[in-house]
Amino acid sequence: MRVLTCVLFLVLGGCGVPLDKPGSRPFGYFDSDESRWTQRNLSVCWEDDSRADNDLEQFQNVVRDVVTSQYQRVGFVFSGWTLCSAVASADIRIWVDPKTWPKVQAFGQHIRNIPRGLHLTFDFLDAGNGWARVCQEPENVTNCIRNYALHEFGHSLGLKHEADRQDAACEQKTHSPGLTIGNYDPLSIMNYCHNEVEIRGNREPVLSYNDVATLLHVYHSGATDETFAAIAWSPGTLAYGTSWHWLSQGAADHTALGHCEQHGERPGDCQVMAWARNACAAFAVGKNKGYGWAWNVEREAARATALSYCQQHDSDCQVLAAVCSLDESQSRTEAPVFRSSRW
Ligand SMILES: [Zn+2]
Repeated sequence: MRVLTCVLFLVLGGCGVPLDKPGSRPFGYFDSDESRWTQRNLSVCWEDDSRADNDLEQFQNVVRDVVTSQYQRVGFVFSGWTLCSAVASADIRIWVDPKTWPKVQAFGQHIRNIPRGLHLTFDFLDAGNGWARVCQEPENVTNCIRNYALHEFGHSLGLKHEADRQDAACEQKTHSPGLTIGNYDPLSIMNYCHNEVEIRGNREPVLSYNDVATLLHVYHSGATDETFAAIAWSPGTLAYGTSWHWLSQGAADHTALGHCEQHGERPGDCQVMAWARNACAAFAVGKNKGYGWAWNVEREAARATALSYCQQHDSDCQVLAAVCSLDESQSRTEAPVFRSSRW
């Protein structure tokens, strides 16, 4: 079977060495074992007294979309999103107010059904907060809302502030204790220093690879001993998305396609062009439409092989994307979504 698979890979443009399983190495800061949810489907509702000077429904949709799409990567389904008065109870009850500042009343499953358990603002009118002015700027509002929504929902799953780790390089500490998992992650959605960079840079926030790794470790360790990686790209524009997933190749493919389509690609324009199991995938494209891809347990080896396959068809090749399923090489973090310009 392995020989047949390899032949297929060669036809498609690449082939790697036989696979060994890499060690997993999650990163993060977590509240405590008692904060862990036992279920993976969590109901969400909006408190009836939610107020916002800005367009409430439009920004509620922004919150719902970013939370559901990002936390789907770690196997959580947030559903409902109705008014709290319409349901008997809800796992997470969101209160929106112009003058509150985003926060949670409790971490992890302790937040269950607490009235106004998770605070969000769409107006950022709390003048006492140093970021209020930045988030009030019209061009920053939507990404501020996304950033804080992902951050607070991270708390609702039990994540604590990355800056509060003893080994943190970020000095914006809140001195809230937690369980240290792996190494410090400068790109965590739970890292104030990174939040600030993202908000000021007006970058669309996402969970970092290591946020995902931490939550997979906390909620899914032992669920499977395999991880899967995928790279999707759009041949017309070179937009692409990468992903790794612990569930199945199909889940990794789906997420990579979703990331690619986030760049404005029409559904169907993005195709999965490289994948790997317990390894790294790399994909190279050439100016003259040549391409090559490869998988390998080493990221650099995958890149080099993909490049060499491309160069067999094209004189001017560049590695478009490389992604590893959960392993040591993730310590060199790459944002999970890129847009590559033509070169
Ligand atoms: Zn926080």
